Amino acid sequence: MLSLYNSLTKSKKMFKPINGSKVSMYTCGPTVYDHVHIGNLRSFITADLLQRVLRSVEGYDVDWILNITDVDDKMISKIKKNNPDEEPMQALGKMADTYTDMFISDIESVGIRRADIKKLPRATDHINSMQELIKRLLREKIAYISEGSVYFSLDAYKKTGKEYGVLVNLDYDPQQRVVDDQDQKNGVGDFALWKARKDDEPSWDFIWIDKNYPGRPGWHIECSAMSTEYLGNIFDIHTGGIDLKFPHHENEIAQCGGQQAKFFIHNEFLNVEGEKMSKSLGNVTTLNDMSDPLAFRLQVLQAHYRSHMDFSVDSLYAAKERLNNLRSYADSMTLAWPGQIPEQDNSGLTKKFLSEFEEALSDDLNTPAALASLNILEGKVYSQETLAALKVVEGILGIGLVDNRDLTSEERALITDYDNTRELKEYVKSDKIRKELIDKYSLSVSDTQFGPLVSRVRD
Ligand SMILES: [Zn+2]
Repeated sequence: MLSLYNSLTKSKKMFKPINGSKVSMYTCGPTVYDHVHIGNLRSFITADLLQRVLRSVEGYDVDWILNITDVDDKMISKIKKNNPDEEPMQALGKMADTYTDMFISDIESVGIRRADIKKLPRATDHINSMQELIKRLLREKIAYISEGSVYFSLDAYKKTGKEYGVLVNLDYDPQQRVVDDQDQKNGVGDFALWKARKDDEPSWDFIWIDKNYPGRPGWHIECSAMSTEYLGNIFDIHTGGIDLKFPHHENEIAQCGGQQAKFFIHNEFLNVEGEKMSKSLGNVTTLNDMSDPLAFRLQVLQAHYRSHMDFSVDSLYAAKERLNNLRSYADSMTLAWPGQIPEQDNSGLTKKFLSEFEEALSDDLNTPAALASLNILEGKVYSQETLAALKVVEGILGIGLVDNRDLTSEERALITDYDNTRELKEYVKSDKIRKELIDKYSLSVSDTQFGPLVSRVRD
């Protein structure tokens, strides 16, 4: 059974879905105004791993919702700068389309399957449900209007007896919490639910007691509204990077009336060459310059999701080498021909491996231990049973471990020639064929008790 570290209880807890065999899971998605950077990708890879473990190890169905923030300050300032002559709402929509497509292609390249995400709802398609939620908070007098904006009142909320700060121990300095565009709020901890329109910014009507307050939603309200709409008032798991814990997730919970998800799972930061990644540091890396994004995925999985991860080019190369070694090992069984390697692994190591691998993942997604358990097999065991185990591993880790391309008849004939010349001890000939296999077909052969086992040469 899966145990997960829950940020709400600050402890590891056994996970059990609310609704029998179906898990409801919400992940805070990207703001679509630029390429997603690798720090954010770590969050999505963590969420993806979790949903794969829930499906493949635990046997649950998963309804995974990942939202798209398609209106916010950064997007608006970007369209003001880049498209000053275009109608703002139209420019915003176009930018959202472009970067949503890029986001999907980026996450697919790190092994996240689009089909596993049930829906990628966009904020601007859910203005109505956000307004309904804001109206409810206004009716309950937990929200108030000031200068055309609507704010969440922390005082009013606490007066209802609810606790604010369930995820973090709040001990904040009021001076640090003042945000420049929210200076009409009453309390320092209050936050915007609806932001009054400024100039010609994209805006929506918001009618409250016969008056219109044109504006746009605050960021926190989108996730509360969309998670409730798609997953209900209380759902199983909410995921995100640790930087979303406060204030974003704390505010989501408050807007939902104090209860939203049973489990909050937060992954730690990704540091680049020892520094926390942020746009202002100028060390933002995207997938653009990575030749094998799945090596980055492996690198992410090599660290436990609750540990800091230090990204560097050297560590990326090391992960790539590790991945290619694992792939070569899987190749040697995928490319073996019928009867060449045994069906069953009589050593029992494959079974031992699978149980250690799954046990590690069930313990709060301990991927470093799960990956280390591959050493039980790698280079030691060759069988169809082992290959089937590696396919299970691939279904969970998604690192492109098993390559399903078969050998062509030409390649197969050449390998048979190689084997025959070796048998006849014609080593000059066999070396020539070995070279041809590498140079012409990018295939490498190793001589084993099963005959020549083949793997693909990768850069
Ligand atoms: Zn969110």
